[in-house]
Amino acid sequence: MTIVNCPTCEKEVIWSAQSPYRPFCSKRCQLIDLGEWADEKKVIAGSDDDLMSDYTEN
Ligand SMILES: [Zn+2]
Repeated sequence: MTIVNCPTCEKEVIWSAQSPYRPFCSKRCQLIDLGEWADEKKVIAGSDDDLMSDYTEN
């Protein structure tokens, strides 16, 4: 098993099919590296980016 470090947050990422964003740990880190997070500042602060999408605003 090959483990690499995410270029963005240096978290360990298993280099396999289960890590579609490798060498990044997540889509967020991939976007950060691409510089596309500029318009998505809401996801930059925390490590649990999925929480944001779980919020329901009525
Ligand atoms: Zn990362």
